Amino acid sequence: MEIIHVSAECYPVAKAGGLGDVVGALPKYQTKMGHHAKVVMPMYKTKFLHKHEWLVDFKGRANLGNWWFDFTVIKEKHNILGFDLYLIDINGLLDREKIYGYDDDPQRFVAFQICVLNWLSHWQHKPDVVHCHDYHTGLIPFMMKHCYPYAMLADVPTVITIHNAQYQGWMGWDKSTFLPPWDTWKGGLLEWKGVINPLASGIKCAWKVTTVSWSYLQELRQSANGLEALFEYEKGKCAGILNGIDADVWDPSLDTYITKQYDLKTFEEGKGESKKILCEQFNLDISKPLIIFIGRLVGEKAADVLPDAILSSMYAHPGQVNFLILGSGESHVEWRLSQLAHSFQGNYNVVIGYNEKLSHQMYAGADFLLMPSRVEPCGLNQMYSMKYGTVPVVRNTGGLRDTVVDMGDWQGWGIRFNHATVGDIVYSIGRAVNVFQDKTHLNWMRQHMMQIDNSWENSVQQYLNIYQSLK
Ligand code: ADP
Repeated sequence: MEIIHVSAECYPVAKAGGLGDVVGALPKYQTKMGHHAKVVMPMYKTKFLHKHEWLVDFKGRANLGNWWFDFTVIKEKHNILGFDLYLIDINGLLDREKIYGYDDDPQRFVAFQICVLNWLSHWQHKPDVVHCHDYHTGLIPFMMKHCYPYAMLADVPTVITIHNAQYQGWMGWDKSTFLPPWDTWKGGLLEWKGVINPLASGIKCAWKVTTVSWSYLQELRQSANGLEALFEYEKGKCAGILNGIDADVWDPSLDTYITKQYDLKTFEEGKGESKKILCEQFNLDISKPLIIFIGRLVGEKAADVLPDAILSSMYAHPGQVNFLILGSGESHVEWRLSQLAHSFQGNYNVVIGYNEKLSHQMYAGADFLLMPSRVEPCGLNQMYSMKYGTVPVVRNTGGLRDTVVDMGDWQGWGIRFNHATVGDIVYSIGRAVNVFQDKTHLNWMRQHMMQIDNSWENSVQQYLNIYQSLK
């Protein structure tokens, strides 16, 4: 099958979170399984762009209302990612350093989607499926079905995968003039609660909707940042498919970011060496458990609770536990986490920012990974930590619920809690401190979780089954 993935992120080209990881891996595994997967994304100003060679695939002209612009589709020459990668270049609009966070993001992503469809509608043949990811590509199913210039694409099946329903791309109706001509009586397919809602439109118009875990799909019917009723109404065409992890990038026996690679037999030495390096670098006590947090410092991840939870854990277990935090996000959380470093020297440190290499070293060197997320559509961190033998300490939600079994349950290897509160977190840290003392149990858990198969092959087959069902 020929599958076109349309996304704002794709690792290693540009990544802000799990969306990038998934779009960097899913097409690769689809190609390995004999399909022809392609990714098309915006051309940002990234290191990847400058390091690789590109061919011009298509040049076109498009418009957002009265504003006309030229665009170019370029293709990576050597297929180094294991699938065809196309970038859309719109001078001045997409070629910026950050992926998101600009005032004109609505224009940027609408223009991107229009260019994708202009390009596809010039093909001599049609792809088997167009697979959209998150709200940045949520208007594509509507445009393929209802915008006159794309009538030739109306019978191409569309799938939208929701990696995060918190962000929906809301736009005022004044922006409706950006879209190519369509029947105005179909406006209801763009709207949710009085505004244009690209994610809601994707859910209404795509032939099939997937979420990145089964539990998240169930939760969205109760809590979806305003879209609950829509998820309830459309439940018949929704499915939950758990993300996999990319074994080419996340495998402690191959990982070149860590000093001493390790596997099931050598994990004690390998993890020990990584922990030693981290503890030296960040002034932590190697004899005590090392608990890490990696991620966006936002409410969804319950990052606002972290400073108080760490403070209380430090008082509950004085000198008995280390914390190392890597992340960036809301400035007051960054500030409070930075302040803690003054109070708990020798047992606490924080790195504010984004650092891919350090994240690998932390998954390898830590004993526990804390994820108190309020919302977690799938969560990749806990799967990476499991692969690296680091015990996940997670809130019982979304993909965390689907991937982590509490050590109190039969053959469990993780620590789960119910509420993103200081009390629940401190209690769970206490359980971590206790199990750290029981090396036999801890090592059994590590070995057990390192063997869990969270590879992509299984999930890829589920996506293929969905595409087949749409033929
Ligand atoms: P989300 O997509 O909601 O941010 P996921 O758990 O699905 O969360 O994916 C997060 C991905 O981003 C993981 O690969 C994680 O290691 C990475 N990540 C998040 N924050 C940072 C950071 N500050 N530095 C390095 N990697 C990070």
